[in-house]
Amino acid sequence: MPHETPLITTIVAALVLAFIFGAIAHRLRIPPLVGYLLAGILVGPHTPGFVADQELATELAEIGVILLMFGVGLHFSFKDLLSVRAIAIPGAVVQIAFATVLGLGLAALLGWTLGAGIIFGLALSVASTVVLLRAMQERRLIETERGRIAVGWLIVEDLAMVLALVLLPAVAGALGGATDTGGGDPVVSGMGLGVFGALAITFAKVAAFIAFMMLVGRRVIPWILHMIAHTGSRELFRLAVLAIALGVAFAAAELFGVSLALGAFFAGMILSESELSQRAAEESLPLRDAFAVLFFVSVGMLFNPLSLIDDPLPVLATLFIILIGKSLAAYLIVILFRHPVATALTISASLAQIGEFSFILADLGVKIGVLPEQGRDLILAGALLSILLNPVMFAAVDWLKPVLERRRGGLANAGAHAGGPRVDPSFERNVEPSFEPAETPSTIEPQAASVLRDHVVLVGYGRVGSLVGESLRASGYPFLVIEDADKTVARLHESGIETVVGNAADPDVLRAANLPEARQLIVAIPNAFEAGQVIEQARAANPNLDIIARAHSDAEIDHLAILGADTVIMGEREIARGMIELIARPNVRGGDPAPENFT
Ligand code: AMP
Repeated sequence: MPHETPLITTIVAALVLAFIFGAIAHRLRIPPLVGYLLAGILVGPHTPGFVADQELATELAEIGVILLMFGVGLHFSFKDLLSVRAIAIPGAVVQIAFATVLGLGLAALLGWTLGAGIIFGLALSVASTVVLLRAMQERRLIETERGRIAVGWLIVEDLAMVLALVLLPAVAGALGGATDTGGGDPVVSGMGLGVFGALAITFAKVAAFIAFMMLVGRRVIPWILHMIAHTGSRELFRLAVLAIALGVAFAAAELFGVSLALGAFFAGMILSESELSQRAAEESLPLRDAFAVLFFVSVGMLFNPLSLIDDPLPVLATLFIILIGKSLAAYLIVILFRHPVATALTISASLAQIGEFSFILADLGVKIGVLPEQGRDLILAGALLSILLNPVMFAAVDWLKPVLERRRGGLANAGAHAGGPRVDPSFERNVEPSFEPAETPSTIEPQAASVLRDHVVLVGYGRVGSLVGESLRASGYPFLVIEDADKTVARLHESGIETVVGNAADPDVLRAANLPEARQLIVAIPNAFEAGQVIEQARAANPNLDIIARAHSDAEIDHLAILGADTVIMGEREIARGMIELIARPNVRGGDPAPENFT
């Protein structure tokens, strides 16, 4: 090669190896992220052979964090965020405190200072955005109540860490570190006005950022997107979405001292109020996934496999705090707030890992001379292992759920029912019990099979499915709906329509629809890959089922037909048909009639 290209080399090596190991992991029925982490270890400095640029990889991973949080913001309204504050704030605060105490304990055993213990504990208390969101997305939980609680919780943790990062240099001296760091505050001022000053300034900056976004961003960002949408240029629209996500995140970090992730979240949240949000979300999807992979690779790169062999006990203790200590605290708090066991378990599992913020905190701790190097190594090992074990935690949740639910017995269930998915306990009395099923998607809990026979199964209740459903209802056909979006499920329950909650591609969900005894299956969801999975399983369950599916291209029609659909209707063709019918009508504005020979 004529010259050095570290950025290209890092991206290429990371993506290619992640792809190879991800595919192998998938083949072995292990989550692909295990493969991504392994790819990272291989290109990292602790294993022989090629070494990618660690700093570049970490920065690239940040782009993944920004795009992920932007995507989450797009599905989150300010109202959603406020609705979970009653549990997210105390939950995150108590969990942080609990993890910090445990971290302090381990630090004391290892003979570290109090300051080191605090930083170590704080680093163990904050979950990784990427890992949590990926886990939630995989299980289609983001738009459920428990998904919202977990995201709200994460945001509180994020804010707490922003505070910790700002305060650490100010109190470094008091914690036993270098006294002249982070702006050169002397110890005394660090202990006195400095701390409160730093706190006040941080709060003011975060508040200023939120106010700015609400007052200015809320108007300007949708306006820009609308304007660009009018140009009709897809390329420009994509660019606009990317520029807004990255630009707001960066400006938030630079000008307001808010984390990149939080900045991106707010940029997305502002867009969630505009109609264009769906399109914006789709535009950022491919990039988001690629960069999220880079995040896992960059974590793998930091990990030194030898640290496991050299001194395994502290690593195990660290892992114990992350997996068991944090989960226990989260579980108890959620149960205390009278949420169902399923919600408590999902939230515990999703937060039982650490990631990007922990690394930043550990780095800073070492830099200001408070945290020993061993602390950073333990945090890295804890992060890698807890990310690796996260899918196992979710599996454990499935296994534990029936046991714990039986334990809690009827009383607890009644409580959970009354509290429902609502987060604010003050809402309790107003909650419709019918909301409850939305809280228990069958990815976690298999639902009982429907008793309907000779019925129609309608998959998806959006723009297409809801019209089909209304017609089925009007004509009195027995039918049920499979739907996974929380709000739509609530609407279905309100109107008394039998609903199976969850992703229709999930075999447990399909089983609950009693397909072997059904007459017809109508697949009214837009994603042809998912529709294909539904059709393939349905055909295997019932060879006589009449399957009608929805598609958006000729290739999709072929795909669905091969998998077993009897009739595939292409949306765009029907739109054209509707338009063609209108060509022959008399001019609605009173002009000349249509040409007579038009067919
Ligand atoms: P629309 O494109 O407006 O007809 O909406 C499609 C509907 O199908 C939405 O309500 C989605 O929540 C729902 N949906 C999409 N994919 C799935 C799936 N795999 N399982 C269940 N419901 C789905």
